[in-house]
Amino acid sequence: MQIRSVQTYFLKIPLDRTIRDSLFEVSYIGLPVVKLTTDDGLEGWGFNWNTAGGAEFPKEMIDRYMAKTLIGKDPMGRKRIVHELFFIETFGWDFRLGRNGLAVMAVSMIDMALWDILCKRANLPLWKVLGGYHDRVEAYNTHGGWLSWTIEELVSNSKSLVFEEGYSAIKLKVGSPNPLDDYERLKAVRAAVGNSVKVMIDANTKWDLETALRWGRRFDDFNPFWFEEPINPLDISGHATLRSKISTPIAIGESIHNKFTFRDYVFQKAADILQVDATKVAGITEWLEIANFAAASNVNVYPHTNIQQPLHVQLVASSTNASVVEHVPWLLDVWKEPLEPKKGFFELPKQTGAGTEIRQEAIEKYEVKNA
Ligand SMILES: [Mg+2]
Repeated sequence: MQIRSVQTYFLKIPLDRTIRDSLFEVSYIGLPVVKLTTDDGLEGWGFNWNTAGGAEFPKEMIDRYMAKTLIGKDPMGRKRIVHELFFIETFGWDFRLGRNGLAVMAVSMIDMALWDILCKRANLPLWKVLGGYHDRVEAYNTHGGWLSWTIEELVSNSKSLVFEEGYSAIKLKVGSPNPLDDYERLKAVRAAVGNSVKVMIDANTKWDLETALRWGRRFDDFNPFWFEEPINPLDISGHATLRSKISTPIAIGESIHNKFTFRDYVFQKAADILQVDATKVAGITEWLEIANFAAASNVNVYPHTNIQQPLHVQLVASSTNASVVEHVPWLLDVWKEPLEPKKGFFELPKQTGAGTEIRQEAIEKYEVKNA
């Protein structure tokens, strides 16, 4: 079997309503997509995404530098192919352009597409290829908790998610210019949903250590399930300090692009929860390496997901130390087999593949040429 063609697309998907967290205002999702076709007609799909621009660059990297190295390769040699991509030609992605950010995101797309081919060749969904562990996966909803929602909207959304839609886990954004506002919002949500619901908080890296320490101690009063990205993700020792002084578990991962940094968080006892995202590290292969290392270190993996539930639900379903997948109801008309939680749980995908395939109609509707 050989890879015969490499096609790429860039989709721009507008949101129904602009939202805001502590860093960004988000009005669209940028979605670079790759499709590898083999000489026996199998299609492997990979994708990446960003909410703040720049998502067209991984597509550009594949088009200009990676595609020609893929043609003629056997897709069953996935690890070798991914290794070669990191050291492509004379660019040295791994050490100069790679290992953080865009180059890793491009490699991730290829790794995913190669897994998709493997699953389709086996005629199985990814979670069965990896070995199923969970029969269904708990969902948590972030869409009720954006910083741009008023406190009245926040409370009303939270009650509706818990008491009408059946979620037992919700997340709200913090990182406001005045942290007292976040304190009042968390207090109101906890009072509205009761003590048995998991309530996560997420500062999107906004604060310095002093602010996170001061307010993290006060947030402890409301028993958050985790405190996500409190400070700069490069500051591992700062996270270790914070973790030693507050009782809320620390969660990090969506801004970390390699296994070595995750390893150092674990070694330095700087995080309780690793939110490994297969689109931000080098794909499914590196996600599994990190999740296995975390399992041997007694650390849980609750992946950052946001929009790519069909992939991450399958990774969690096949992991002994993973649980709880994020849900934001964007892109439901983009995936070939979209997943939406029912009564707070995702059912497992039935279709073959890695859950990365895009509908042809979505390409026709959202593609932006010459982005
Ligand atoms: Mg986050």
